Amino acid sequence: MTKQTDILIVGGGLSGLYLASQLEAKGHDYHLIEARSRFGGRIYSPSGDDDQSRYDMGPAWFWPGQPRMAKLLNELNIPYFDQAATGNLVFEDPSGNVRRDLDMATMEGAHRVQGGLERVIDALVTRLDQTRLQLSSNVREIKISEHGVSALMNGKQSEIIAKKVILCLPPRLIEHIIKFSPLLPDQTATQMRNCPTWMAAHAKFIAVYETPFWREMGLSGDAISHKGPMMELHDASPQAESINEDLSHGPGAIFGFLGVPANVRKNQQDDVMNACTQQLITLFGERAAKPIKVFYKDWSDDQFTATPMDADGPQSHPQYRPIILSESAWQDRLFLASTETALQFGGFLEGALEAADEALKRAKL
Ligand SMILES: Cc1cc2nc3c(=O)[nH]c(=O)nc-3n(C[C@H](O)[C@H](O)[C@H](O)COP(=O)(O)OP(=O)(O)OC[C@H]3O[C@@H](n4cnc5c(N)ncnc54)[C@H](O)[C@@H]3O)c2cc1C
Repeated sequence: MTKQTDILIVGGGLSGLYLASQLEAKGHDYHLIEARSRFGGRIYSPSGDDDQSRYDMGPAWFWPGQPRMAKLLNELNIPYFDQAATGNLVFEDPSGNVRRDLDMATMEGAHRVQGGLERVIDALVTRLDQTRLQLSSNVREIKISEHGVSALMNGKQSEIIAKKVILCLPPRLIEHIIKFSPLLPDQTATQMRNCPTWMAAHAKFIAVYETPFWREMGLSGDAISHKGPMMELHDASPQAESINEDLSHGPGAIFGFLGVPANVRKNQQDDVMNACTQQLITLFGERAAKPIKVFYKDWSDDQFTATPMDADGPQSHPQYRPIILSESAWQDRLFLASTETALQFGGFLEGALEAADEALKRAKL
């Protein structure tokens, strides 16, 4: 089956959906295809069994000084609140000794979206013309043909021909999974391969409890561990939507980033999850023994985020640089717009919006 459109957006994460909303507002003919059976990409907020609260398994925060995120949330009428920061931080040394007397909060001032970040994705999707959106469409080949730029999906069973294609997925993933004809210039392919996908090496564990009981202990839910398996933990409790909804008695949640390297935790999900719960008991006491729900997401294992090169993530936030497509057959036909292509906020949610804005300018749309 072959379709035609002016602009093809590949990837329905934040950058792709935001781009689609901008194109739709300007009356452009576009089509968006997404490989997964859900939108959102790295934004993923499943809900608990016993409550309707959602828990961010990918990003959780944006920060003051990130104007596009604040503006988008205001436009979508989605409230946000400050990361819980009242109370002490728990510190665990490499031998497992724990102290709970440190009056500091590592994420104070960061904002969280009420109802989980995927709410932003839901709101963007709802606003778009549904006939232009296509899930479960995995692009594996893009070629220049006499009719335009053609993207082949799902084992070449379907094709979309466009005048311009905007790739809203991480450059390293593009280089790893999409075959280009003609080939991308060597320099471009090398730049893409060397561009780390932000947080792709990470895994996150969340435990949900009846109440945020650590607050009664004078703790914020923050922890730093040099023993593991989690190395950095934070409160992930939902916040009441309105003053009429009382969540002060629960549920409460804590999340942690795994410190165990991706290749060591591979295929060890059950053991890793048990060890995380044990660690929560060490850090926050016996009441942590019985979570009502746990979640685990290993992004390094996810073929629509990570490549094998992402098993070793960068030690610090990379300074993302421009990826050059000019002076090749792809100039004015192919554009990049995942967060990794944003020069100021690359890697962050804000960067996904920045990248989309910049791609619109480069594509003269
Ligand atoms: C664990 C974790 C924690 C994070 N924490 C934060 C945080 O607190 N704050 C923050 O600002 N940022 C954080 N980030 C980064 C943030 O998630 C990203 O900046 C943002 O979500 C990137 O959006 P994107 O649209 O550019 O890319 P993605 O969300 O990666 O979207 C790319 C899309 O392309 C799709 N796709 C892939 N391959 C194909 C294909 N072949 N064909 C079609 N579609 C395809 C994917 O399925 C995906 O939907 C975190 C990320 C992770 C993983």
